[in-house]
Amino acid sequence: MLDRYERITARQSRTYYVPPDRPAAELTADALREGLSALADTFDLGTTLPPVRAILAPDRNAFDALVADMLDVEIERPSDPRRIAQPQRTDIVFLSPSAYAAESAYDYVPDDYQRMVHHELVHVVQKHLSPNIEVSPLWWDEGLAVYLSDQWQHASPFRFREPVQLALERGELPALSDVLSDPSLAYPFGWTVVRFLEQAKGRERIVRAVKEIADGDVLAALGETPSHLEPRWRAWLLRRGVG
Ligand SMILES: [Zn+2]
Repeated sequence: MLDRYERITARQSRTYYVPPDRPAAELTADALREGLSALADTFDLGTTLPPVRAILAPDRNAFDALVADMLDVEIERPSDPRRIAQPQRTDIVFLSPSAYAAESAYDYVPDDYQRMVHHELVHVVQKHLSPNIEVSPLWWDEGLAVYLSDQWQHASPFRFREPVQLALERGELPALSDVLSDPSLAYPFGWTVVRFLEQAKGRERIVRAVKEIADGDVLAALGETPSHLEPRWRAWLLRRGVG
């Protein structure tokens, strides 16, 4: 499937691209190197993770075909313009930034793109380390990815930060139980729970949770219950805001 693609080979990654996408491929390879280095430190990865393979699909049609046929992930065709990346095991298919204007919901902003690559790497690493990723809750998966990629610190069209800011301004924070169960709240609010838990428990506990949780019960593994956590998370978020 990758016959017409060229490749940038690095120690921990392979980036496939078609020649007009060389600049974006270089940026992707850099983002993979930086992201993998940060995650190797955080999770003490050693040499256990196989090289990550990133493929820059030059257009929506190629993206959908790679996701369906190479990753074996079900995808509607043509896929939603908000879909620009899909990880599976140690592979990640990206829609090339050169196709953003015509075929995605986003403008291409290099810094946002770099953080998005990092976000996808968090999913790859979590899946690699988790004893049972299938039962891992969405708020935890997306919260970790948004938090560890620093996406939460930046306004972007992906809107991981703005909904939290808005909810704080309006005094309308969602109930914790909704954040933990509603997929549409997992993306913008999951990171606030992960960040609070890290501040309350320390990064070591978070790292150990990623490596040890096999039943999907993140809060129990961290010695929490929703009712014990909710008032502390809420008070902390009101005090700290998104800064
Ligand atoms: Zn994600």
